[in-house]
Amino acid sequence: MAQQGHSVDEYLETIYFLAFPIGEYRPMADGLPTVSVRVAEMLGVSRASAGEMLKRLEAEGLIERGEQKEALLTKTGRARAEKVVRKHRLIERLLTDFMGYTAAEAHVYADELGDTFSEDMVERIAERLGQPDRCPHGWPVDPAFEQRENNELAPLADLPAGAKATIVRLAEHDGDLLHWFYDQGLEPGRELEVRSTEPMAVRLNGGEVGLSDKAAAGLFVRPA
Ligand SMILES: [Zn+2]
Repeated sequence: MAQQGHSVDEYLETIYFLAFPIGEYRPMADGLPTVSVRVAEMLGVSRASAGEMLKRLEAEGLIERGEQKEALLTKTGRARAEKVVRKHRLIERLLTDFMGYTAAEAHVYADELGDTFSEDMVERIAERLGQPDRCPHGWPVDPAFEQRENNELAPLADLPAGAKATIVRLAEHDGDLLHWFYDQGLEPGRELEVRSTEPMAVRLNGGEVGLSDKAAAGLFVRPA
């Protein structure tokens, strides 16, 4: 997890995720955490290396600094980030649908393979797979659709006790957490009911599963 040398594309993917928050509420507790802190957390790298990479992205015109020094994708940066996430999601489908890997395995391998395929190859993969709508973890292949759908979803952590919802997407940047979701049967398409909050517990498939704060924040659902 805490490997060195994440690529420019992996950083863009992370900034893209932070740029389009899911659900109504934007976490702003204790002021605005600088983006390098959140990017460092998500990628499992030091703040210093995240800061260095953000400087490089800024020098390359992929991000710019906003009024509060936050990192914003430029038009070029956003176009490239959207290509990166689309490619990542299609390669994941190649791994699961064609090569037989599990959904939990697919994310890490797709990151490793990202640079291998040209844009033309990615389009051919999409065609052969029948233009899939989503990656195995529920993230839409089409970024415009993804951004629209964000308004209809919420992190499970935002739901009150008694709420019913369907799982739509799983956060995938934390490999251990992703495996844990699948081990618990917390998969896209499953319905659940919130039994209690703090700590969060849900009823699922007739059983009950307790979730850590991190897990509840990384499970994106469509409230019923
Ligand atoms: Zn995925």
